Amino acid sequence: MKVTLRKVGKTPLDFEIKSNEITFKGYLEYHAGKLILLKADINGSVDTQCSTCGEDFGLKVDEKVEFFISDGLYNGDDIDIDVVESFNSIADLDELLISEIELIKSDYHSCENCK
Ligand SMILES: [Zn+2]
Repeated sequence: MKVTLRKVGKTPLDFEIKSNEITFKGYLEYHAGKLILLKADINGSVDTQCSTCGEDFGLKVDEKVEFFISDGLYNGDDIDIDVVESFNSIADLDELLISEIELIKSDYHSCENCK
């Protein structure tokens, strides 16, 4: 799902994306300047490898994500939330979900047997 950033206004724009066993559900809302706020939950299960024994297992995921999407280069003040820059004025939510999943997978995880 692709969203044109300048069409996002003060009224939250809800979205829900399903990818395999993951649901990415939340909303986009205009913040200020070039910034759009994205707030969402990532729920489901991700196939990953146990960092201890190397076995594949389904990792349960229940994460809240919150970041800004900047329409173009962001060179404003430092803010507490991460800023993701978009250079084509589009938020590609499928791509954002993929990178969030990669981030989750890159953490250290142990399967049930190794806990
Ligand atoms: Zn293990």
